Amino acid sequence: MPAKDSQDYYVILGVERDASADQIKSAYRKCAMQWHPDRNPDNKTEAEEKFRLASEAYGVLSDQQKRSVYDRYGAAGLNSRGFDTGFDSSVFTDFQDILGEMFGFDDIGGRRRGGRGSRGQRGSDLRYDMSLTFEEAATGVSSQIRISRNETCEPCKGTGAKPGTGMTPCKTCGGRGQMSYSQGFFSITRTCPACQGAGQVIKDACVSCRGQGRIERERTLEVGIPAGVDSGTRLRMAGQGEPGTHGGSPGDLYIFLEVKEHAFFERRGSDLVCEIPISIAQATLGVKIKVPTLKDEEDLEIPEGTQSGQIFRKKGKGLPNPHGGKGDLYISVRVVIPSKVSREQRKLLEQLGQSMKIDNKPAERNSTFFDKVKDIFG
Ligand SMILES: [Zn+2]
Ligand SMILES: [Zn+2]
Repeated sequence: MPAKDSQDYYVILGVERDASADQIKSAYRKCAMQWHPDRNPDNKTEAEEKFRLASEAYGVLSDQQKRSVYDRYGAAGLNSRGFDTGFDSSVFTDFQDILGEMFGFDDIGGRRRGGRGSRGQRGSDLRYDMSLTFEEAATGVSSQIRISRNETCEPCKGTGAKPGTGMTPCKTCGGRGQMSYSQGFFSITRTCPACQGAGQVIKDACVSCRGQGRIERERTLEVGIPAGVDSGTRLRMAGQGEPGTHGGSPGDLYIFLEVKEHAFFERRGSDLVCEIPISIAQATLGVKIKVPTLKDEEDLEIPEGTQSGQIFRKKGKGLPNPHGGKGDLYISVRVVIPSKVSREQRKLLEQLGQSMKIDNKPAERNSTFFDKVKDIFG
């Protein structure tokens, strides 16, 4: 026999010693509902202890073998026989499942699944992936896209009721929109599943949408792509997503942009970079060349004595910055060393070599040039 009444599992659950398994289960539910810590924020410590005790009691009394040992020898008897009487979390999970089934709760804390929260919901956002050429992204473009989305049904204005027919009070909840269950001294109210809390249901369904209130439509939308966008840019078209339900606002349409690479321009933010090959002679003597820009081409003066990798800047010839202003165009020249020369070229180069002596010592690490490159491109 258990020593103290306060520790008597039957007393804790408030059941008779010959209570059936169902009576024990129902008593435990009642206790757990009452003492769940989430429901007793003001005396959490006491609630936690009672909740733990009730779970412990249920863990023993719901197990046929443990119960018979307990009946004969008490809790000490269970312990000495190697039975665990501690808080059994599997009992707890089981209990949550029971509650979930009964009341549509996600957890004992009382959050509702669906229920009233589902009324007046905002529509879903939609996503559209769009691919642009480098030039389209640079200059901006107006483009038409075709999307398929749900829209509010016109004939019934989204009510789902056949035009001219009205609503009728919901039979399930008697028009209250809510249903009450009582469990012990608790009365639990939940949203009526039949009318989703509206208290009314459709008498005759709208033929166009079969009572759904929404209908799938293909739409062509005009999208203005601003100049200077890049891969990963996301454009938002407010209110172009799916319609909300029960008066909720519509969702948005997001256009995800993917910009194709250019044949020779590389993008760094709103700046453009390209590389232009020049000959040793051009680099040495200087030359005026044409360099491409996004629109046409520009003259570029290569001064004599230009080194391979030297960078020239054309101000404002880059991409428009979506936040204003324009980027620059950077031209990096590469001095091409011929890998094959003709007999005549070889002769000329040999002569050149005779007249141009160079000291083949390691260059000093005065890296002004490399610093400059770093400064420009970070
Ligand atoms: Zn109802
Ligand atoms: Zn309709």
